[in-house]
Amino acid sequence: MDIKAVDKEYIANTYARFDLTITGGRGSIVYDDQGKEYIDLGSGIAANSVGICDPVWQQAVIEQLMQVQHTSNLYYTAPQAKLAKLLCEKTGMKKVFFSNSGAESNECAIKAARKYASDKNSGRDTIITLWQSFHGRTISTLSATGQEHFHQHFGPFTPGFVHVKANDIEDLRAAVANNKVCGIMMEMVQGEGGVNCLDKEFVDECAKICAENDILLMVDEVQTGNGRTGKLYAYEHYGIKPDIVSTAKGLGGGLPIGATLLGEKVENTLSAGTHGSTFGGNPICAAGAYSIISRLDDEFLAEVTAKSEYIFSQFPNATGMGLMIGIATEKPAGEVVRAAMEKGVLCLTAKTKVRLLPALTIPWDQLKKAVAILKEVME
Ligand SMILES: *Cc1c(COP(=O)(O)O)cnc(C)c1O
Repeated sequence: MDIKAVDKEYIANTYARFDLTITGGRGSIVYDDQGKEYIDLGSGIAANSVGICDPVWQQAVIEQLMQVQHTSNLYYTAPQAKLAKLLCEKTGMKKVFFSNSGAESNECAIKAARKYASDKNSGRDTIITLWQSFHGRTISTLSATGQEHFHQHFGPFTPGFVHVKANDIEDLRAAVANNKVCGIMMEMVQGEGGVNCLDKEFVDECAKICAENDILLMVDEVQTGNGRTGKLYAYEHYGIKPDIVSTAKGLGGGLPIGATLLGEKVENTLSAGTHGSTFGGNPICAAGAYSIISRLDDEFLAEVTAKSEYIFSQFPNATGMGLMIGIATEKPAGEVVRAAMEKGVLCLTAKTKVRLLPALTIPWDQLKKAVAILKEVME
Protein backbone atom coordinates (compact mmCIF):
# COMPACT_ATOMS: atom_id res chain seq x y z
CA MET A 1 0.00 0.00 0.00
CA ASP A 2 1.18 3.52 -0.80
CA ILE A 3 0.51 4.88 2.67
CA LYS A 4 1.01 8.52 1.71
CA ALA A 5 -1.37 8.32 -1.26
CA VAL A 6 -4.06 6.51 0.72
CA ASP A 7 -3.69 8.93 3.61
CA LYS A 8 -4.03 11.90 1.25
CA GLU A 9 -7.10 10.40 -0.36
CA TYR A 10 -8.98 9.29 2.74
CA ILE A 11 -7.87 11.40 5.69
CA ALA A 12 -9.28 14.89 6.20
CA ASN A 13 -6.73 17.41 5.01
CA THR A 14 -6.21 19.10 8.36
CA TYR A 15 -2.51 18.27 8.68
CA ALA A 16 0.37 19.43 6.50
CA ARG A 17 2.36 16.26 7.14
CA PHE A 18 6.09 15.95 6.60
CA ASP A 19 7.18 13.45 3.97
CA LEU A 20 7.93 10.86 6.64
CA THR A 21 6.22 7.62 7.65
CA ILE A 22 7.12 6.44 11.14
CA THR A 23 7.00 2.71 11.72
CA GLY A 24 8.54 2.33 15.15
CA GLY A 25 11.05 3.46 17.70
CA ARG A 26 12.77 2.90 21.01
CA GLY A 27 13.31 5.63 23.58
CA SER A 28 14.24 8.80 21.71
CA ILE A 29 15.02 7.00 18.45
CA VAL A 30 12.36 6.83 15.73
CA TYR A 31 12.52 4.66 12.58
CA ASP A 32 10.91 5.42 9.24
CA ASP A 33 9.65 2.96 6.62
CA GLN A 34 13.06 3.03 4.89
CA GLY A 35 14.82 1.96 8.09
CA LYS A 36 16.34 5.40 8.58
CA GLU A 37 16.87 6.44 12.21
CA TYR A 38 16.03 9.83 13.72
CA ILE A 39 16.71 11.35 17.12
CA ASP A 40 13.32 12.54 18.28
CA LEU A 41 13.26 16.01 19.85
CA GLY A 42 9.49 16.37 19.44
CA SER A 43 8.22 13.26 21.27
CA GLY A 44 4.82 13.35 19.61
CA ILE A 45 4.43 16.98 20.77
CA ALA A 46 5.46 16.31 24.37
CA ALA A 47 3.18 13.27 24.67
CA ASN A 48 5.80 10.52 24.71
CA SER A 49 7.21 11.89 27.94
CA VAL A 50 9.44 8.87 28.59
CA GLY A 51 10.07 8.13 24.93
CA ILE A 52 8.83 5.29 22.77
CA CYS A 53 8.05 1.87 24.26
CA ASP A 54 9.66 2.68 27.60
CA PRO A 55 9.72 -0.73 29.34
CA VAL A 56 8.35 0.43 32.73
CA TRP A 57 5.46 2.38 31.18
CA GLN A 58 4.83 -0.43 28.67
CA GLN A 59 4.62 -3.01 31.46
CA ALA A 60 2.06 -0.91 33.37
CA VAL A 61 -0.04 -0.54 30.22
CA ILE A 62 0.17 -4.21 29.23
CA GLU A 63 -0.75 -5.42 32.73
CA GLN A 64 -3.88 -3.29 32.65
CA LEU A 65 -4.65 -4.32 29.07
CA MET A 66 -4.70 -7.93 30.22
CA GLN A 67 -7.16 -7.08 33.05
CA VAL A 68 -9.82 -4.88 31.45
CA GLN A 69 -9.49 -2.25 28.72
CA HIS A 70 -12.55 -0.14 29.52
CA THR A 71 -15.54 -0.18 31.86
CA SER A 72 -17.33 3.23 31.52
CA ASN A 73 -17.50 5.70 34.35
CA LEU A 74 -20.59 4.03 35.82
CA TYR A 75 -18.22 1.79 37.79
CA TYR A 76 -15.11 2.08 39.92
CA THR A 77 -11.68 1.10 38.64
CA ALA A 78 -8.38 1.01 40.52
CA PRO A 79 -6.14 2.84 37.98
CA GLN A 80 -8.26 6.02 38.04
CA ALA A 81 -8.50 6.08 41.83
CA LYS A 82 -4.75 5.48 42.24
CA LEU A 83 -3.84 8.15 39.68
CA ALA A 84 -6.20 10.76 41.15
CA LYS A 85 -4.82 10.13 44.66
CA LEU A 86 -1.24 10.43 43.44
CA LEU A 87 -1.92 13.67 41.53
CA CYS A 88 -3.66 15.22 44.55
CA GLU A 89 -0.97 14.10 46.99
CA LYS A 90 1.76 15.54 44.79
CA THR A 91 0.03 18.88 44.13
CA GLY A 92 -2.22 19.58 47.11
CA MET A 93 -5.19 19.79 44.76
CA LYS A 94 -8.38 18.15 46.06
CA LYS A 95 -10.11 16.30 43.23
CA VAL A 96 -9.52 15.25 39.64
CA PHE A 97 -11.77 15.00 36.59
CA PHE A 98 -10.37 12.74 33.87
CA SER A 99 -10.88 13.28 30.15
CA ASN A 100 -9.03 12.33 26.96
CA SER A 101 -7.20 15.41 25.74
CA GLY A 102 -5.91 18.86 26.48
CA ALA A 103 -8.89 20.63 24.96
CA GLU A 104 -11.23 18.54 27.07
CA SER A 105 -9.26 19.18 30.23
CA ASN A 106 -9.66 22.90 29.51
CA GLU A 107 -13.38 22.49 28.73
CA CYS A 108 -13.76 20.99 32.20
CA ALA A 109 -11.78 23.86 33.72
CA ILE A 110 -14.03 26.38 31.94
CA LYS A 111 -17.20 24.56 33.04
CA ALA A 112 -15.99 24.41 36.63
CA ALA A 113 -15.24 28.16 36.64
CA ARG A 114 -18.59 29.05 35.12
CA LYS A 115 -20.49 26.80 37.53
CA TYR A 116 -18.57 28.13 40.52
CA ALA A 117 -19.80 31.61 39.59
CA SER A 118 -23.31 30.36 38.81
CA ASP A 119 -23.57 28.53 42.16
CA LYS A 120 -22.81 31.83 43.89
CA ASN A 121 -25.23 33.80 41.71
CA SER A 122 -22.37 36.19 41.21
CA GLY A 123 -23.44 37.24 37.72
CA ARG A 124 -19.91 36.53 36.52
CA ASP A 125 -19.20 34.47 33.42
CA THR A 126 -16.12 35.97 31.77
CA ILE A 127 -12.85 34.08 31.59
CA ILE A 128 -9.70 36.05 30.89
CA THR A 129 -6.97 34.42 28.83
CA LEU A 130 -3.80 35.84 27.28
CA TRP A 131 -2.95 36.91 23.78
CA GLN A 132 -0.71 34.33 22.07
CA SER A 133 -2.19 31.57 24.22
CA PHE A 134 -3.31 28.20 22.95
CA HIS A 135 -6.00 26.25 24.75
CA GLY A 136 -7.37 23.78 22.19
CA ARG A 137 -9.47 23.19 19.10
CA THR A 138 -13.03 22.83 20.38
CA ILE A 139 -15.33 25.78 19.79
CA SER A 140 -14.97 27.00 23.39
CA THR A 141 -11.24 26.43 23.70
CA LEU A 142 -10.76 28.21 20.36
CA SER A 143 -12.62 31.14 21.91
CA ALA A 144 -10.26 30.93 24.86
CA THR A 145 -7.22 30.82 22.57
CA GLY A 146 -5.80 34.33 22.19
CA GLN A 147 -4.74 34.20 18.55
CA GLU A 148 -6.91 35.93 15.96
CA HIS A 149 -6.30 33.40 13.21
CA PHE A 150 -8.05 30.76 15.31
CA HIS A 151 -11.16 32.96 15.49
CA GLN A 152 -12.19 32.44 11.88
CA HIS A 153 -14.47 30.14 9.90
CA PHE A 154 -16.25 28.44 12.80
CA GLY A 155 -18.40 31.13 14.33
CA PRO A 156 -20.42 31.79 16.29
CA PHE A 157 -17.85 31.11 18.98
CA THR A 158 -18.59 30.65 22.66
CA PRO A 159 -18.94 34.10 24.21
CA GLY A 160 -17.42 35.13 27.53
CA PHE A 161 -13.71 35.16 26.80
CA VAL A 162 -11.58 38.28 27.03
CA HIS A 163 -7.90 38.39 26.10
CA VAL A 164 -5.26 40.49 27.78
CA LYS A 165 -1.59 41.03 26.92
CA ALA A 166 0.77 38.59 28.61
CA ASN A 167 2.92 40.33 31.24
CA ASP A 168 0.82 43.52 31.07
CA ILE A 169 -0.54 44.12 34.55
CA GLU A 170 -2.45 47.27 33.58
CA ASP A 171 -4.29 45.43 30.79
CA LEU A 172 -5.21 42.71 33.28
CA ARG A 173 -6.45 45.19 35.90
CA ALA A 174 -8.61 46.92 33.30
CA ALA A 175 -10.15 43.61 32.22
CA VAL A 176 -11.24 42.59 35.72
CA ALA A 177 -12.62 46.01 36.66
CA ASN A 178 -16.17 45.24 35.48
CA ASN A 179 -16.64 42.53 38.14
CA LYS A 180 -17.77 40.04 35.46
CA VAL A 181 -14.70 37.81 35.59
CA CYS A 182 -14.98 34.34 37.11
CA GLY A 183 -11.58 32.98 36.07
CA ILE A 184 -8.17 33.82 34.63
CA MET A 185 -6.60 31.03 32.60
CA MET A 186 -3.01 30.98 31.39
CA GLU A 187 -0.04 28.84 30.40
CA MET A 188 3.06 29.52 32.52
CA VAL A 189 5.08 29.02 29.34
CA GLN A 190 3.11 29.71 26.17
CA GLY A 191 3.91 26.73 23.99
CA GLU A 192 2.24 27.08 20.61
CA GLY A 193 2.48 30.87 21.03
CA GLY A 194 6.28 30.77 20.73
CA VAL A 195 7.69 29.21 23.92
CA ASN A 196 7.49 32.35 26.03
CA CYS A 197 7.65 32.27 29.83
CA LEU A 198 5.38 34.55 31.80
CA ASP A 199 7.11 37.06 34.08
CA LYS A 200 7.03 36.17 37.76
CA GLU A 201 5.78 39.65 38.60
CA PHE A 202 2.80 39.27 36.26
CA VAL A 203 1.89 35.83 37.57
CA ASP A 204 2.17 37.07 41.18
CA GLU A 205 -0.18 39.93 40.34
CA CYS A 206 -2.66 37.54 38.68
CA ALA A 207 -2.62 35.35 41.77
CA LYS A 208 -3.16 38.39 43.99
CA ILE A 209 -6.04 39.75 41.89
CA CYS A 210 -7.65 36.30 41.87
CA ALA A 211 -7.34 35.84 45.63
CA GLU A 212 -8.66 39.32 46.43
CA ASN A 213 -11.65 39.14 44.08
CA ASP A 214 -12.73 35.51 44.36
CA ILE A 215 -11.63 34.91 40.77
CA LEU A 216 -10.40 31.41 39.97
CA LEU A 217 -6.76 31.07 38.99
CA MET A 218 -6.67 28.49 36.19
CA VAL A 219 -3.39 27.15 34.83
CA ASP A 220 -3.24 25.33 31.51
CA GLU A 221 -0.46 22.79 32.04
CA VAL A 222 -1.32 20.68 29.01
CA GLN A 223 2.13 21.19 27.51
CA THR A 224 4.14 22.44 30.51
CA GLY A 225 2.94 19.76 32.90
CA ASN A 226 4.10 16.35 34.05
CA GLY A 227 7.80 17.09 34.50
CA ARG A 228 8.28 18.97 31.24
CA THR A 229 9.75 22.12 32.85
CA GLY A 230 11.78 20.36 35.53
CA LYS A 231 8.98 20.52 38.12
CA LEU A 232 5.92 18.30 38.21
CA TYR A 233 3.88 21.36 37.12
CA ALA A 234 5.29 24.63 35.82
CA TYR A 235 3.25 26.78 38.23
CA GLU A 236 5.56 25.47 41.00
CA HIS A 237 8.36 27.62 39.53
CA TYR A 238 6.21 30.66 40.30
CA GLY A 239 5.24 29.71 43.84
CA ILE A 240 1.49 30.13 43.18
CA LYS A 241 -1.42 27.93 44.20
CA PRO A 242 -3.90 27.61 41.32
CA ASP A 243 -7.56 26.82 41.83
CA ILE A 244 -7.72 24.69 38.67
CA VAL A 245 -4.95 22.94 36.74
CA SER A 246 -5.62 21.29 33.39
CA THR A 247 -3.20 18.86 31.84
CA ALA A 248 -2.85 16.16 29.17
CA LYS A 249 -0.05 15.59 26.58
CA GLY A 250 2.80 14.03 28.61
CA LEU A 251 0.49 12.73 31.32
CA GLY A 252 -0.33 9.52 29.45
CA GLY A 253 3.14 8.87 28.06
CA GLY A 254 1.63 8.64 24.58
CA LEU A 255 -1.86 7.37 25.38
CA PRO A 256 -4.74 9.84 25.40
CA ILE A 257 -5.67 11.10 28.84
CA GLY A 258 -6.49 14.54 30.18
CA ALA A 259 -6.92 15.61 33.78
CA THR A 260 -8.42 18.67 35.41
CA LEU A 261 -7.16 19.14 38.95
CA LEU A 262 -9.60 20.97 41.18
CA GLY A 263 -8.53 22.92 44.26
CA GLU A 264 -10.44 23.60 47.48
CA LYS A 265 -12.75 26.27 46.06
CA VAL A 266 -14.06 24.08 43.26
CA GLU A 267 -13.62 20.56 44.61
CA ASN A 268 -17.40 20.03 44.83
CA THR A 269 -18.49 22.39 42.06
CA LEU A 270 -18.95 19.71 39.43
CA SER A 271 -21.63 17.56 41.03
CA ALA A 272 -23.18 14.30 39.77
CA GLY A 273 -24.52 14.67 36.24
CA THR A 274 -22.93 18.06 35.52
CA HIS A 275 -19.99 16.70 33.55
CA GLY A 276 -18.81 13.38 32.18
CA SER A 277 -16.91 11.45 29.56
CA THR A 278 -17.30 7.96 28.13
CA PHE A 279 -13.60 7.23 27.86
CA GLY A 280 -12.26 9.76 30.35
CA GLY A 281 -9.76 8.12 32.71
CA ASN A 282 -9.74 4.95 30.67
CA PRO A 283 -8.04 2.26 32.81
CA ILE A 284 -5.21 1.57 30.36
CA CYS A 285 -4.41 5.26 29.93
CA ALA A 286 -4.70 5.82 33.68
CA ALA A 287 -2.38 2.91 34.48
CA GLY A 288 0.19 4.32 32.04
CA ALA A 289 -0.19 7.79 33.54
CA TYR A 290 0.24 6.44 37.06
CA SER A 291 3.51 4.86 36.02
CA ILE A 292 4.68 8.19 34.52
CA ILE A 293 3.68 10.41 37.44
CA SER A 294 5.10 8.05 40.07
CA ARG A 295 8.52 8.25 38.35
CA LEU A 296 8.76 12.02 38.45
CA ASP A 297 10.70 12.29 41.73
CA ASP A 298 13.37 14.86 42.61
CA GLU A 299 16.16 12.82 41.07
CA PHE A 300 14.29 12.40 37.77
CA LEU A 301 13.41 16.10 37.64
CA ALA A 302 17.00 17.14 38.44
CA GLU A 303 18.10 15.21 35.37
CA VAL A 304 15.51 17.07 33.26
CA THR A 305 16.93 20.35 34.59
CA ALA A 306 20.52 19.27 33.86
CA LYS A 307 19.61 18.45 30.25
CA SER A 308 17.78 21.75 29.98
CA GLU A 309 20.82 23.65 31.21
CA TYR A 310 22.95 21.88 28.63
CA ILE A 311 20.60 22.90 25.78
CA PHE A 312 20.44 26.51 27.03
CA SER A 313 24.25 26.58 27.19
CA GLN A 314 24.40 25.55 23.54
CA PHE A 315 21.74 28.01 22.34
CA PRO A 316 22.27 31.28 24.25
CA ASN A 317 19.14 32.91 22.79
CA ALA A 318 16.84 30.01 23.76
CA THR A 319 13.57 30.68 25.57
CA GLY A 320 11.41 28.38 27.65
CA MET A 321 11.89 26.22 30.68
CA GLY A 322 13.11 22.70 31.34
CA LEU A 323 12.83 20.57 28.21
CA MET A 324 10.38 22.95 26.56
CA ILE A 325 12.63 25.16 24.51
CA GLY A 326 12.25 27.68 21.69
CA ILE A 327 15.17 28.86 19.58
CA ALA A 328 15.01 31.91 17.31
CA THR A 329 16.96 31.21 14.12
CA GLU A 330 18.23 33.30 11.24
CA LYS A 331 16.88 30.85 8.67
CA PRO A 332 13.11 30.33 8.74
CA ALA A 333 12.28 27.78 11.46
CA GLY A 334 10.45 25.52 9.01
CA GLU A 335 13.57 25.31 6.88
CA VAL A 336 15.68 24.35 9.89
CA VAL A 337 13.19 21.62 10.84
CA ARG A 338 13.30 20.17 7.32
CA ALA A 339 17.09 20.29 7.14
CA ALA A 340 17.38 18.68 10.59
CA MET A 341 15.02 15.91 9.52
CA GLU A 342 17.20 15.27 6.50
CA LYS A 343 20.15 14.84 8.87
CA GLY A 344 18.23 12.56 11.24
CA VAL A 345 16.79 14.88 13.91
CA LEU A 346 13.08 15.53 14.42
CA CYS A 347 12.04 18.82 15.98
CA LEU A 348 9.10 21.24 15.88
CA THR A 349 8.32 24.88 15.32
CA ALA A 350 6.41 27.36 17.47
CA LYS A 351 5.59 30.56 15.59
CA THR A 352 8.97 31.77 14.24
CA LYS A 353 11.07 29.57 16.52
CA VAL A 354 12.41 26.04 16.36
CA ARG A 355 10.85 24.19 19.29
CA LEU A 356 12.35 21.28 21.18
CA LEU A 357 10.26 18.97 23.35
CA PRO A 358 12.44 15.87 23.72
CA ALA A 359 11.46 12.91 25.87
CA LEU A 360 12.30 13.68 29.49
CA THR A 361 14.44 10.54 29.47
CA ILE A 362 16.44 11.28 26.32
CA PRO A 363 19.93 9.75 26.75
CA TRP A 364 22.78 12.29 26.99
CA ASP A 365 24.66 10.97 23.96
CA GLN A 366 21.59 11.25 21.73
CA LEU A 367 20.81 14.71 23.07
CA LYS A 368 24.36 15.92 22.41
CA LYS A 369 24.41 14.43 18.93
CA ALA A 370 21.05 16.01 18.07
CA VAL A 371 22.13 19.42 19.41
CA ALA A 372 25.32 19.28 17.30
CA ILE A 373 23.26 18.49 14.19
CA LEU A 374 20.83 21.30 14.97
CA LYS A 375 23.64 23.82 15.41
CA GLU A 376 25.10 22.71 12.10
CA VAL A 377 21.83 23.12 10.17
CA MET A 378 21.10 26.49 11.80
CA GLU A 379 24.37 27.98 10.48
C1 LIG B 1 -1.75 20.98 23.00
C2 LIG B 1 -2.37 21.96 23.91
C3 LIG B 1 -3.75 21.97 24.13
C4 LIG B 1 -4.70 21.07 23.38
O1 LIG B 1 -4.47 19.73 23.66
P1 LIG B 1 -5.17 18.59 22.75
O2 LIG B 1 -4.80 17.32 23.46
O3 LIG B 1 -4.59 18.70 21.40
O4 LIG B 1 -6.62 18.86 22.78
C5 LIG B 1 -4.26 22.85 25.06
N1 LIG B 1 -3.47 23.69 25.74
C6 LIG B 1 -2.12 23.71 25.55
C7 LIG B 1 -1.29 24.65 26.35
C8 LIG B 1 -1.53 22.86 24.62
O5 LIG B 1 -0.22 22.91 24.42
